[in-house]
Amino acid sequence: MNKEQSDKPCPICSNTMRNRVCSWTFYCDACDYWAAFLELNINSQDDYIFSEKRDDTEVISFLDSIRIKNFNKILDKIAMGQVKKPLRILDIGCASGLFIKIAKERGHIVTGIEPNSIMAKVAADKGFNVINGYFPVAIPPTIKFDVIIFNDVFEHIPDVNDVLHHCNIFLNDTGALVINLPNSSGTLFRLAKILAMAGVMGPWRRLWQVMFYTPHVHYFNSNSLDSLLKKYNLKNYSGAIAIEALNLTGLWDRLAIDKSNNTPTRLMLFVGIVLFYPLTKILEKDAFYSIYKK
Ligand SMILES: [Zn+2]
Repeated sequence: MNKEQSDKPCPICSNTMRNRVCSWTFYCDACDYWAAFLELNINSQDDYIFSEKRDDTEVISFLDSIRIKNFNKILDKIAMGQVKKPLRILDIGCASGLFIKIAKERGHIVTGIEPNSIMAKVAADKGFNVINGYFPVAIPPTIKFDVIIFNDVFEHIPDVNDVLHHCNIFLNDTGALVINLPNSSGTLFRLAKILAMAGVMGPWRRLWQVMFYTPHVHYFNSNSLDSLLKKYNLKNYSGAIAIEALNLTGLWDRLAIDKSNNTPTRLMLFVGIVLFYPLTKILEKDAFYSIYKK
């Protein structure tokens, strides 16, 4: 095998991707698409977020403030394109059920699906309709949804082609598919890439969540995501809508997730991010969502 080549096919165009930046990240020039080949271990409980230091009912709660804001914006946007109410929504990778809570408060009928058994139980204990398992096998094949949503989930799914094929089957003819994910054209991604190429791997590893039980295996931007969805005749009708991915609230806790960070490193990252934060308001945003229709 040529050092610069891999036998990994691009999930969008199927051409061979090139190994870039480090041994486990790959890039397709034609699609401007990034992939990582990292091991997933969805039911690992070794992560800090599942450690005894945290209350199970508060799992990843320190990310909530930014998520609540983003979920409300997304639900407003979805409602604008739909006359029917309430909407039947499928939340794929619902985690502990924050999106379900907000959507239910608006009167929608929401089903969550979550492969991690602890997360699924946390959500089910709140009284939400949650299936512990994987999409599409765990969903009865006769159900149709008005909205299928992925909130910070799509970038973790190895076989996105299989998942999109099934989204088409489970989506009503007038339904909407919503994908909310990190942006490979975002400032943090570009910055981390430059640092990694200079040998500073920390931010690159953090962006791909190498230390998490479910790392990111894809990085899309709006163009590469549209190209992928086009294969399933799903058209972007909202455009790419930038959302805030970085919030200073809960930052100190977020930095503790990577157990390889000792206190001085954590403090250095904290100060660095606080100083960098005003710039993120004017530079290209690090996350976006798009709404697709048949
Ligand atoms: Zn490609």
